[in-house]
Amino acid sequence: MAIDIAFRREFSFEYGRLEPVAPGVRRIVARNPSPFTLRGTGTYVIGSGEVAVIDPGPDIAEHVEALLAGLSGERVTHILITHTHRDHSPAAAALKAVTGAATWGYGPHAGGKRSEPGVEEGGDWDFVPDVTVRDGDSVAGEGWRFEAVHTPGHTSNHVCFALPDRGILFSGDHVMGWSTSVISPPDGDMTAYMASLDKLLDRRDEVYWPTHGPAITEPQAYVRAFIAHRRERETGILEYLATGIDHIDTIVERLYVGLEPGLRRAAGRSVHAHLIDLVGRGIVTSDGSPTIDARYRLVRS
Ligand SMILES: [Zn+2]
Repeated sequence: MAIDIAFRREFSFEYGRLEPVAPGVRRIVARNPSPFTLRGTGTYVIGSGEVAVIDPGPDIAEHVEALLAGLSGERVTHILITHTHRDHSPAAAALKAVTGAATWGYGPHAGGKRSEPGVEEGGDWDFVPDVTVRDGDSVAGEGWRFEAVHTPGHTSNHVCFALPDRGILFSGDHVMGWSTSVISPPDGDMTAYMASLDKLLDRRDEVYWPTHGPAITEPQAYVRAFIAHRRERETGILEYLATGIDHIDTIVERLYVGLEPGLRRAAGRSVHAHLIDLVGRGIVTSDGSPTIDARYRLVRS
């Protein structure tokens, strides 16, 4: 039976307006809608007077100008980055230039290790945080204190930021209410992603605010559904391998019936991520290294 995730895509906002979404939390949505960002990047502002900005967003001047206009009379003291994809971190440079605020993040994209060109087009290779955060670190400002929660998987440097006294987790692209996360090797890592989902189950956050889409108000149920969904995908992949289908393209054709052609590459990378995980667990083997073009088969015990 297919796992049913209760996705929610609807939320109200107006482009270019910094709007309150919860006590002490405001959001402005950048005009970069796409199949990967839903309506666009949600940039969050926490506090008032002296504020933190989470994920300033893509390098769109109009977005930074609108954010600054919404903050007139206030001061940005902290810029926090959940991860270095081009829809999240590039505007940090412009925001920092105007405000002088320092940036916080786990580190440069993919640890600064560039893979072959064309493998991943979404990385922001220019961003380097002023302050490096590690799992459990506190980042505090005027009236708020964040806890960094390292959640690798979508990227190796993905960090969620929790406000423990408020029960809020800014979940970035790790857990979103409208879609599953893209796990695209080599920086995307399914083994790490699954561990990072388990990690959230041990926490007591009451609401997630992802970078794209509406808030998640039943976070534990969502995380469980995402885990079940990936296990179901994995089972599907293993079943195709058992019938002798050994190539990612063929698995994608069978597994994602009716998929929009524009999303086929992303689906292939997701299957690739599963196969790398399965190879790592000794369940599957590949001819040569487990690349996107390799032939895969089950390890017979
Ligand atoms: Zn991302």
